[in-house]
Amino acid sequence: MPEGHTIHRLARDLNSSFEDSKVRASSPQGRFEAGASKIDGQTCKGFEAFGKHLVGHFAAGDVLHVHLGLIGKFRKTKGDPVGAVRLRLASDEVNWDLRGPMVCDLGSPDLADKVADSVGPDPLRAYAASNSDAEAQATAFIEAMKRRRIAVGAALLDQKVIAGIGNVYRAELLFILGIDPLTPANALDDSELRMLWDLSTEQLRQGEKLNRIVTVDPALGGHKTARSIPRGGRLYAYKRADKPCLVCDTPIELLEVAGRKMWRCPNCQPTAVTKKKTAAKQTATKKKTAAKKKTAAKQTATKKKTAAKQTATKKKTAAKQTATKKKKTTTKKGV
Ligand SMILES: [Zn+2]
Repeated sequence: MPEGHTIHRLARDLNSSFEDSKVRASSPQGRFEAGASKIDGQTCKGFEAFGKHLVGHFAAGDVLHVHLGLIGKFRKTKGDPVGAVRLRLASDEVNWDLRGPMVCDLGSPDLADKVADSVGPDPLRAYAASNSDAEAQATAFIEAMKRRRIAVGAALLDQKVIAGIGNVYRAELLFILGIDPLTPANALDDSELRMLWDLSTEQLRQGEKLNRIVTVDPALGGHKTARSIPRGGRLYAYKRADKPCLVCDTPIELLEVAGRKMWRCPNCQPTAVTKKKTAAKQTATKKKTAAKKKTAAKQTATKKKTAAKQTATKKKTAAKQTATKKKKTTTKKGV
């Protein structure tokens, strides 16, 4: 399924084809004939994305809502439509064909608000917004995560929590941050959640720019840029079960979170149990070290005491000897 970066990129590309110009619309397949005939000949006022939802605005107030779902595609094409094209948007220069969408609807202006309200904070919209609005969206994400006891790997797929993240990004984001996907969302602290939001923004922006998902650090494989990393080397965890982790060589594990496949490195993303064990070991080592220090301190104290006693005894003996000597001298003198 296309993730948020694809839809934002699609909105941008559709705008460069149609924004502020008249469009011809048709439904070669016939299933969207009524909608297409309504927008045919209208001026397009622009497209925008809300997570994985695409919204198009037209001069008469009509709003087009598209969700690609699992198999949908909206692509630039040439020539006559081929196959089941639900909607074709065309100018003199270009055609865009929509096939297999999960949703393709036309509505009044309030349809845009409905779509906007149906999703949670969208990192790409937040990035484009003013500072205060961007901050409000980051906070909304953090608060939504804190209210969820489900696994963080499941919460990231909830479009009400964060809009635009799909199965690829959820695996990659958690890998990069070293978070076990099964960790309950509300067990993460504010700084971890903030990092998750900031990384989502950074990664989705890169995805939109490259028009593909590349999360691996180019330096890791000796590549100059993210764009030059070949297919098969662009992701850390997604679909890499049993392959060695690019960071530590441990085989990547396949698991299921929220009914969908999920991948993690058991070493880079330690589970809560492993973390506890490590913490317990560290505590035990600390205790041992402290105990050793105490014993050493005691020994030093005992040594000091013994030394002091010895010194005192020596002094006493010396004093006695002096006194005896003096006495003897006095006795001799007196004789
Ligand atoms: Zn690893």
